[in-house]
Amino acid sequence: MGAKTKALQETDLQKLEKQRLDLPEDDKTEEKVAKKSWTIEDSESLYRIPGWGEPYFSINAAGHVTVSPRGDRGGSLDLYELVEALRQRNIGLPLLIRFSDILEDRIERLNASFARAIARYNYPNCYRGVFPIKCNQHRHIVESLVRYGKPYQFGLEAGSKPELMIALATLEPSASKEESSGTLLICNGYKDKEYIETALLARRLGHQTLVVIEQLEELYIALEISQQLGIEPVLGVRAKLSTKGVGRWGGSTGDRAKFGLTVPEILEVVNQLQAAGMLHCLQLLHFHIGSQISSITHIKDAIREAGQIYVQLTKVGANMRYLDVGGGLGVDYDGSKTNFYASKNYNMQNYANDIVAAVKDACTQGQVPAPILVSESGRAIASHQSVLIFDVLGTSEVPCQSQQPIEESEHLILRNLWETYTSIDAKNYQETYHDAIQFKEEAIGLFNFGYLSLKERARAEQLYWACCSKILNIARQEDYVPDDLEDLEKIMASIYYVNLSVFQSAPDSWAIDQLFPIMPIHRLNEEPSQRGILADLTCDSDGKIDQFIDLKDVKSVLELHPLKQQNKQPLSNEPYYLGMFLVGAYQEIMGNLHNLFGDTNVVHIQMTPKGYQIEYLVKGDTISEVLSYVQYKAEDLLENLRRQTEQALQENRITLKESQLLLNDYERSLSRYTYLVGE
Ligand SMILES: *Cc1c(COP(=O)(O)O)cnc(C)c1O
Repeated sequence: MGAKTKALQETDLQKLEKQRLDLPEDDKTEEKVAKKSWTIEDSESLYRIPGWGEPYFSINAAGHVTVSPRGDRGGSLDLYELVEALRQRNIGLPLLIRFSDILEDRIERLNASFARAIARYNYPNCYRGVFPIKCNQHRHIVESLVRYGKPYQFGLEAGSKPELMIALATLEPSASKEESSGTLLICNGYKDKEYIETALLARRLGHQTLVVIEQLEELYIALEISQQLGIEPVLGVRAKLSTKGVGRWGGSTGDRAKFGLTVPEILEVVNQLQAAGMLHCLQLLHFHIGSQISSITHIKDAIREAGQIYVQLTKVGANMRYLDVGGGLGVDYDGSKTNFYASKNYNMQNYANDIVAAVKDACTQGQVPAPILVSESGRAIASHQSVLIFDVLGTSEVPCQSQQPIEESEHLILRNLWETYTSIDAKNYQETYHDAIQFKEEAIGLFNFGYLSLKERARAEQLYWACCSKILNIARQEDYVPDDLEDLEKIMASIYYVNLSVFQSAPDSWAIDQLFPIMPIHRLNEEPSQRGILADLTCDSDGKIDQFIDLKDVKSVLELHPLKQQNKQPLSNEPYYLGMFLVGAYQEIMGNLHNLFGDTNVVHIQMTPKGYQIEYLVKGDTISEVLSYVQYKAEDLLENLRRQTEQALQENRITLKESQLLLNDYERSLSRYTYLVGE
């Protein structure tokens, strides 16, 4: 037990009598009067929407989030009303909404950025981007991408055999033999004989497959197959740049990176090809320094190095035509426009400008023709289109109601806590915080040795929370908050229980602490007076979100609204919807079935001249579907349960009516959504 005891004298108790009138609610009301009423602009700046959401997301006068899927080109819809309308069509939450027009807008922006850069620097060749399928393989997305990409000859990148199979079946082969037209199909990833054979044969169909050699092995396979089939491959090499990648995916480059060839290995490829009389087949240089590159400096460094390798490859006799700069174009998740990992200190135009200018410089200087520029942006194309909507099931708050004044007969430790509580002010709040902690710990110690009753311990905890709450209210008014008080906000946060599995819908938030903007999609004209963290449905303490975007660094609590009771009925809350934004890249496929929460419902919304239409609805997994992923057959399970009820009936342990109710519930659940459905 702690040594420090702030003994309370009788005289102090008398003093306290006088202070009883001075209860903490008073200063709160004053504060309210002084504040002007909350506006949607306040919400906009609190949740930083202009930073991460422009030009797609904003707030309307009703205090709802609105979506403008075509960006600045007009047409918008009210996200809250959309969710209500979808719920009326029996499409339950959690719900992933994809806006196809946003996808189209992203492709246009990327291509327009490169077109502007090419015009600006008089670049003597063109840009032909590809979308890396691994970023989001869902059919409706890949098909839309191919359709929207057509005017720009925007192709696909495959990182595995299954992805190659998607790409081949989805891309339209070009009829013309002219290599400069048609979309590219970049073949990355580890390749076996079948992969390379498929890629080569696809050239006969008119697909412009480019096989990127990531391992020397792959070159030998490619040479062998090309000889057998009599088809010349178009080959690329993936370079391990020595320019260090940074951040989460920094390991994608550097000498010991998992992928690619070192410069000596690239030379070996050149020698082997030359020996086989096939050096003209080597046409592409590829590199990828990692995803979400936050700082433009790293991109510039990589391009400078790759530009020189490109020039040198031309000089040793390869028929170089393409420079593929990989992915890495970042998304500004926190809207801070900084080199923070959740942000990026450049925009799409800066990115295109730097690539175009640097490659032009390198080629002019090296006196080699400028390549067709290829990039493989996944995150920057796919993130914005998807919004995950989920509802709050309930909240749990720290118990800090106002306290009954202390009685003289109460235990000394309680009186100490009470004295601390009443003495808290702006001058001593840091010191009183430590006192409160000390007394609470002593109270628990006393309880553990049998000196405090359960009731007294409860009283001690309540007084402690009341102290924390009072101290936090003071600390929030201060410009500078001492370090040891920063955690108080976290300790005092409410828990908002949400109808969602973080593991299924936002795996990167759990696995790598990625930040996504999260905010209510309605009530934005009301002040969000609560601060909370989100806890999901899984029985896993990691199934929570307690890091949120902020201008500086991250914040550990999110401003949220108190739940409203529906028709003044207890236990029945008005729906409170939250949105998690920018989740269109990587999250869906990496989600897992922890606790058997399956895929969520998905709708594709497309704008029409009259409003919007539901282009596709993909129903989420049912319970029997997720059970089948782990090899359970619904009918067998049901049969087992039926047998058990039959036995119980025979032994009079259950009534017929009860057994029917149980079996009906069980059977109905099998075809139900894995999430909570309400009603
Ligand atoms: C993952 C990956 C990409 C996509 O990266 P983003 O940062 O999402 O644009 C591109 N190329 C390769 C080789 C990749 O592995």
